[in-house]
Amino acid sequence: MTDSIKTVCPYCGVGCGLEVSPPAQPGKAVHRDSEGTPIWQVRGDRSHPSSQGLVCVKGATIAESLHKDRLLYPMMRESLGQPFRRVSWDEALDQIASRIQALRATQGADAICMYGSGQFHTEDYYVAQKLMKGCLGTNNFDANSRLCMSSAVAGYVQSLGSDGPPCCYDDLDQTDCAFLIGTNTAECHPIIFNRLRKHHKQNHHVKLIVVDPRRTPTAEAADLHLAIQPGTDIDLMNGIAYLLLRWNYLDTQFLDECTQGFSEYAEVIRHYPPERVARRCGIRKDDLELAARHWGEAKRVLSLWSMGLNQSSEGTAKVRTLINLHLMTGDIGKPGAGPFSLTGQPNAMGGREAGGLSHLLPGYRFVNNPQHRAEVEQFWGLPAGAISPQPGRTAWQMIEGLEQGEVGLLWIAATNPVVSMPDVERTKQALRQSPFTIYQEAYYPTETTAYAHVLLPAAQWSEAPGTMTNSERRVTLCPQFRTPPGEARPDWVIFAEIGQRLGFGRQFAFNSAADVHAEFVQLTRGRPCDMTGISHARLKQEGPLQWPCPEQSTVTKDSRLKSESSSRLYTNLRFNTPDGRARFGAYHSRGLAEPPDPDYPFVLTTGRLYGHWHTQTRTGRIDKIRKMHPQPFIEIHPRDAEKLGIQEGNWVEVSSRRGTARFPAQLTQAIAPGTVFVPMHWGELWAEAAEANALTHPEMCPSSLQPELKACAVQVKLLTPNRASSEPTISASAAV
Ligand code: SF4
Repeated sequence: MTDSIKTVCPYCGVGCGLEVSPPAQPGKAVHRDSEGTPIWQVRGDRSHPSSQGLVCVKGATIAESLHKDRLLYPMMRESLGQPFRRVSWDEALDQIASRIQALRATQGADAICMYGSGQFHTEDYYVAQKLMKGCLGTNNFDANSRLCMSSAVAGYVQSLGSDGPPCCYDDLDQTDCAFLIGTNTAECHPIIFNRLRKHHKQNHHVKLIVVDPRRTPTAEAADLHLAIQPGTDIDLMNGIAYLLLRWNYLDTQFLDECTQGFSEYAEVIRHYPPERVARRCGIRKDDLELAARHWGEAKRVLSLWSMGLNQSSEGTAKVRTLINLHLMTGDIGKPGAGPFSLTGQPNAMGGREAGGLSHLLPGYRFVNNPQHRAEVEQFWGLPAGAISPQPGRTAWQMIEGLEQGEVGLLWIAATNPVVSMPDVERTKQALRQSPFTIYQEAYYPTETTAYAHVLLPAAQWSEAPGTMTNSERRVTLCPQFRTPPGEARPDWVIFAEIGQRLGFGRQFAFNSAADVHAEFVQLTRGRPCDMTGISHARLKQEGPLQWPCPEQSTVTKDSRLKSESSSRLYTNLRFNTPDGRARFGAYHSRGLAEPPDPDYPFVLTTGRLYGHWHTQTRTGRIDKIRKMHPQPFIEIHPRDAEKLGIQEGNWVEVSSRRGTARFPAQLTQAIAPGTVFVPMHWGELWAEAAEANALTHPEMCPSSLQPELKACAVQVKLLTPNRASSEPTISASAAV
């Protein structure tokens, strides 16, 4: 490739490096998509330390979606159901600013909400925090990351004193035992899985344990697959802890010197003898014991998890229960070991760093901490007390706020809640009641478009510079290499325009994304996620960098600030708690928020497929991926199918207490009897009545406030007459 540009994949949190080059290369045919449109060429960036040249189908095909179905101009309408009319940016922004002013004067700032996205660049996140939490004085900014990994954040904070995955991808090559729980890594984080799989294959002593109710492609590769009943993760992990204690696999020096709360924890786990645990989890006692034996005998245990633990009404407890195992055996702060959460979105990590959840402030600060608020207020040049001490509304609480008439303006950006929220019928109904919804998005339509009063066209990845942080805390610069279509603008520019219109010109006098980044990193100084040694210029010159990466006082000959970045956290075995000790969290299992019962006898579990990304806003527009996954489906065990008279390919109706959806059946032994599985990717643009989240409920973890999207109780019945399977179609817009 010539004139290639290095960037990072904008899909999942693995954060693979990409190298892109223009459609036309000297002496070569123009590179085109299947419709003949010239498109940029994409391949893996061999120099990117996180992915070393590897890339999955999503990254490889990203260029095919960039030009399709784009929202080109600001548009407005008085009420839902009316046609949109094209307006100028000035008209749209003036209207939004005057709505915000009016609401502040009448209902107060807390009537204003913004719902953002792990697709944002860190710069977008940062400017949005400054606008909402600083200038407007409401903490009602939340992101779709709330639905994805907020339990991991809460678990890390409560157990280790701070957010931040302690591990790095090199640990995948150095572990003796990989314990994967609640993650279908092979499909959802495929490049991480490739690396782990290679290490596993090449080193016979390395054990791979996978805990998942489904026999996923990840589980297929395992030495030991524990197909536990949904909702019994804590039982299992407490059962492993029981055996580690009984067999004396403890790192007593680490326990004594580096932890607190072990005796209370030991009191809880004594209630989890293997016979009882095996029965509750629906697994063999021998397998439970083998898992504990593998963990205990390994010198270095690495655990990986994602939404299978996080999306739970006891998500934080699950995360902490997993961290407990690492604390018992001292498997943290050393190569090949540690509790490693895999982020779903490309920049969920950057969101955490910039304060992009409703209880956070930039630099891993908290809105309920007076010192943190004072530091940020002072830095932003705002009066004391400008930032509210109350955590703002979370994603679901915004929906509840609409229902109760307490939210007068909802600003949604770079996400598609009409598909991804739990209980989507209730979500849609709440959005119909919204007095004023702004939808800032790159694509048109998405399912959420139909619920907006104002549409703002956003520049997307490749069209605006910015940074993203991947799961191993590595920051990569995403340069601009394409011109935004129509009048699309970068997200942070739109937020800054509103800030200026509201009278905060000084706070939003940024000339570039590099300026925004330079300001943001100053708020990380001295914090666990210190990035003061990172700048756009340095990333451009040196490539991706991991934090912590503090600015050093020494300046080299060429005047570039140099600093060392850190691969692993807690290598000195001191944690970010006041006394430097990690905390055990002792929890009994509460099980599912909605267990099966005679009326709804099946547990529905939801998940993702290899090729598709979330609600298909991009991947649904890529032929290769649509052919790979042409339609939604439900997995059901043959024994259950026989009882219900269902055969392979029959259409079935699935109902929960909240809604109904229809899918063709796939009979498979990969799912346990009593459990069914549905992928979450299909909204009403892509298939009729196949929304997984029509069925799910919004019960949340009390600590992380993350909804239990992974499981709910359903009934399943054969649809007659059978519907022939059909190709998914895209409709012009979702009905309101
Ligand atoms: Fe992109 Fe994730 Fe695939 Fe890497 S693994 S190419 S980051 S989608």
